Amino acid sequence: MMKMPMPSIDRVKVAVRVRPFSQREKNSGSKCVISMHSRTTIIQDPKNPEHMKMFTFDLAYWSHNGFQKDKDGVFISADPSSKFAGQRDVFHDLGRGILDSAWQGYNTTLLAYGQTGSGKSYSMIGFGANKGIIPNVCEELFKAIENREKNQEYQVTFSMLEIYNEQVRDLLSRTKKPGGLKVREDQQLGFYVDGLKSVPCENYAQIERLMEQGTKIRTTASTNMNASSSRSHMVITIQFKQVFLDRDLTKQSSINLVDLAGSERQKSSGSEGDRLREGSRVNLSLTNLGNVISALADEAMGKKVLHIPYRDSVLTKLLQSALGGNSRTTLIAAISPADICYEETLSTLRYAERAK
Ligand code: ADP
Repeated sequence: MMKMPMPSIDRVKVAVRVRPFSQREKNSGSKCVISMHSRTTIIQDPKNPEHMKMFTFDLAYWSHNGFQKDKDGVFISADPSSKFAGQRDVFHDLGRGILDSAWQGYNTTLLAYGQTGSGKSYSMIGFGANKGIIPNVCEELFKAIENREKNQEYQVTFSMLEIYNEQVRDLLSRTKKPGGLKVREDQQLGFYVDGLKSVPCENYAQIERLMEQGTKIRTTASTNMNASSSRSHMVITIQFKQVFLDRDLTKQSSINLVDLAGSERQKSSGSEGDRLREGSRVNLSLTNLGNVISALADEAMGKKVLHIPYRDSVLTKLLQSALGGNSRTTLIAAISPADICYEETLSTLRYAERAK
């Protein structure tokens, strides 16, 4: 049977989300260099305010209620037409599409990219009552399962891992394998992590507990190594299987939710030896991911793509089956509004632009 190519808009979707000013930025009298006008994001060079760059993405999320005032009480750039976006709005736009794809049997990947402190974890996991996309997706998945007909069976399994320095660690297991878990390749399954725990779940509360456990292990592990969890990628995978008992049909899909390592460039002064090597490995794997997504976006536009470099990093190996083929990918670029983050924000916007 011939496979119909999907329209490009469905294959790779890019969103940008600006967070509110942090206390530190407010205290230092930072100015806002970002404005949003519908789907367009404009960034202004603080050293040369006439110098502006414009980016257009599928979605743009603003975080400020109305205008901002600078320290002299002067209003600074913020477009009254850009709507304040809360966690539910972001879930509504991005999370629902992920769930729809999963029900249809497509694999999906949602990635959060940005410098440390730009709001990746806030968007993905959230804090307290402000639940991010991952808890919302999981909760809605089980709600939908409960309301489905009885002649179908469902299986949901949950796994959570971390990639640090190109080594894989199971975040649901307390025993640490020296050198990390092995990534193997199978003719049919593609790349997989040998020995990774995959826990069957029957309700959202179970997933919530596993996520808490995984987050705790991630934080403890990085503290022990005197490293920061911001230098590792976290990957949550939900395998979703639907068995239609009356039709002898099964649909299987994986939902991959990735909180990427901080994208900030490691300055050569101050970082030495291991830390520098760690930093450059992180940056290499982010660059490689960018190359893969950009190749996929080209392919979706009908351009001829000869090679997609999945094999160049552990992250893209593990995501291969959820990035390529008929999969759907969403990238959230998380940014700060402040002038002091200008260089990093510009580099995040450029990265996101390549994914379009
Ligand atoms: P990252 O994961 O990129 O390092 P965090 O998600 O931890 O960054 O965000 C840094 C801080 O900014 C946190 O205190 C978080 O609560 C806050 N924050 C980030 N995004 C938002 C947002 N959209 N609305 C409100 N607060 C946010």
